[in-house]
Amino acid sequence: MPATTLDPYMKRDHVAGHMDVEREEKERLIGQVMADSRFGDYLYGCYECGICVAACPSARFYDFSPRRIAQAAARRDIDLMFQQMQEDIWECSQCFSCLRCPRGNNPGGVITIMREVAVKEGLHSAKDALAGYSRIIYKIMSTGTQVSPDMLQPDAFPDWGPEVKDVSENLDLWRRMLPPETMHTTTTGWKVADRTLVELYVIWLETGALDMIAQVDQGIHMILEEIMEEKLEEEGIEI
Ligand code: SF4
Ligand code: SF4
Repeated sequence: MPATTLDPYMKRDHVAGHMDVEREEKERLIGQVMADSRFGDYLYGCYECGICVAACPSARFYDFSPRRIAQAAARRDIDLMFQQMQEDIWECSQCFSCLRCPRGNNPGGVITIMREVAVKEGLHSAKDALAGYSRIIYKIMSTGTQVSPDMLQPDAFPDWGPEVKDVSENLDLWRRMLPPETMHTTTTGWKVADRTLVELYVIWLETGALDMIAQVDQGIHMILEEIMEEKLEEEGIEI
């Protein structure tokens, strides 16, 4: 049934070409979500009690509801789940407060699976949602450690809202207020051994994480491959 703006569960029927996508394609994508071995453990039906919504921080700030996620998945509603993959799933902060569901559901876990399929399949929604995080992905995967305070810029942390602008504009002040060493670094908080970095790279390679990066950002993927090929050679490891 086509989505209309009167449907209480659908948000906007024009989201990311939602109306143009063939039914078979939606079934293929949602089929991957449901075929995931975790799916059955994350969903046992829904009482519609709303406890997950009350606990969910994202529901406070967005037109988002873990209950809608659980219900769509419990009803196997292909159209609605596909639409949620275009927008809703990127509004979840993956805090898993919704685990207090009395039915034993894990709406945040269902969202994790939906995100993984969206990234693996290179959906536009995944590329859009992750576009601002390229330099963070690059930093973590190329150094094996966290972002430095200097990287806290509004365009790199689009979902932080005005907070990140405040931090970036007043970093000197933050540094004077907060003594920990990591606030003062401009590169990384600590150095990760090359051997560890290479091991992480092999894990990302073997688990398909790097293929997922290639789907959302070909440029970053190429740079990471170059860096890692060099490190693999230095460590004498052949893949
Ligand atoms: S994991 Fe997502 S859906 Fe669950 S409570 Fe946190 S933000 Fe809400
Ligand atoms: S807490 Fe569980 S049963 Fe209640 S609405 Fe959320 S998913 Fe459904």
